Amino acid sequence: MSSVYESLVEIVGGEHVSTQAEELYIYSFDLGTTEPHRPDYAVAPRTTEEIQAIVRLANREKVPVAPLGGGLSLAGLALPLKGGISLDLKRMDTILEVNEKSRYTVVECGVSQGQLTSYLERHHPTLMHSEPGAPPMATIAGNMAIHGQGDLAHPYGFNSDMVNGMEVVLPTGEICRFGSCSVSTQWYTNHPLPDVGLFLGWAGTTGIITKVSLKLFPNKSIVGSGQFVVEDENLIPEIIHKITHTEMVHDLVAYSQAIPPFSSGLHHLTINLSADSEKELAFKMELIFDDTLGPYIRSGDGGYLGFNRGSQRPQVSKTSDWRKGGGFEYVGSIMPVETYPDCYRRGREISEKHGIPYTVLGRVIGMSHAMMFSWTYAFNRADPETMDQAREALHETDDLVLELDGTIWKPGTYGQKLVMERIDPNTLNLMKKVKQLLDPNGIMNPGNWEVS
Ligand SMILES: Cc1cc2nc3c(=O)[nH]c(=O)nc-3n(C[C@H](O)[C@H](O)[C@H](O)COP(=O)(O)OP(=O)(O)OC[C@H]3O[C@@H](n4cnc5c(N)ncnc54)[C@H](O)[C@@H]3O)c2cc1C
Repeated sequence: MSSVYESLVEIVGGEHVSTQAEELYIYSFDLGTTEPHRPDYAVAPRTTEEIQAIVRLANREKVPVAPLGGGLSLAGLALPLKGGISLDLKRMDTILEVNEKSRYTVVECGVSQGQLTSYLERHHPTLMHSEPGAPPMATIAGNMAIHGQGDLAHPYGFNSDMVNGMEVVLPTGEICRFGSCSVSTQWYTNHPLPDVGLFLGWAGTTGIITKVSLKLFPNKSIVGSGQFVVEDENLIPEIIHKITHTEMVHDLVAYSQAIPPFSSGLHHLTINLSADSEKELAFKMELIFDDTLGPYIRSGDGGYLGFNRGSQRPQVSKTSDWRKGGGFEYVGSIMPVETYPDCYRRGREISEKHGIPYTVLGRVIGMSHAMMFSWTYAFNRADPETMDQAREALHETDDLVLELDGTIWKPGTYGQKLVMERIDPNTLNLMKKVKQLLDPNGIMNPGNWEVS
């Protein structure tokens, strides 16, 4: 161990390697219900070349490497499940380029969502990226590694669909580029070369993304959020279909929660609009709230709760206040929009069975091509019993997702196992081959997606 430590110090400098118990403690857990796993080393590189040297060392010494962005993915995905190096990427925090005309940015892997948002607000106010509802320290690259979605999911899709190119350190240490940046100095497209990108959705098990080019989108000067409510969950898919048909909304989320009690059982739609003038806003509001939702209001099936200037989203993290000790974790899934009523009813049953106030949420992805549906479970961090309850509820929900013919999003080890048991055997075999080819010594984030 001492020779690994000395080599790490040589690569990144003594200040950026730690084996101190109190520092490793911080790296041993995330905000969710996963049991703590302590790394042997916490290492914070500054450059791609340093990462390359660390990965080469890890191969020689057969030491696991667990990439860590903001550590906010919750399901234990960034924890060093088998010890080794916790590779903290937050020092790789340079925004390298913003191209206004081709609407993209190139960032290092430790650039956080909040950092990019405030940078664009200050220097390029007509541009925005699709920011997840995660706390702002979540990183762009960590979000790519798990196929995240942000507030432009409707209409533009998954954040990983917005990748224009990447630089990656392979598990064997080679530095590779994908997309137009592999043949030119420009990072404006991921296409049209043969697709060899095997890093999105792999949760850091096939390599370390060091740079990402990300699509940017028009940012309008007026933003606001309308709230609409219905009692009957069966109406939600049809309403989503009608709203997305207008092509006027830039984030669309349906949610229901037990707290506050007066709104329990109701289904809220948060409908975000943006505009560059009062005239544009008035036009969009009329189309959405009068023409599209008016019939529901007039029939008594729905109610308009008003429109607030300034962007507003349901904050899942608020559910952590629902139990003393403040903890929560959610199962995310990618589901067809028409499953909303079943997802709500069955999720509510699971929550009630475990004595947890229910919170469910569906965010529309693309033109209603899918939704990210989440079931959130609050627990008290200081009370192992409530953590066990939440863990059981999470596992039952993973089972439910597959029963409803959905796909678990960013599953932890329990959900990964379910997926690997169910997935087409030839697909699993291909995943095995990919993993063996890229990571022959199995050093990359072991414990996650153990296909072989
Ligand atoms: C309150 C709350 C709300 C959330 N809302 C959303 C939401 O709206 N949309 C959404 O998409 N997510 C959401 N999340 C989930 C998660 O926080 C985000 O997806 C976040 O962007 C993950 O980024 P991170 O930097 O925290 O990743 P981490 O948790 O650090 O890492 C995620 C995975 O990627 C790997 N990894 C990290 N960096 C790299 C890299 N450079 N190269 C290769 N692998 C890497 C890690 O090993 C891990 O397996 C939410 C989480 C919370 C707590």
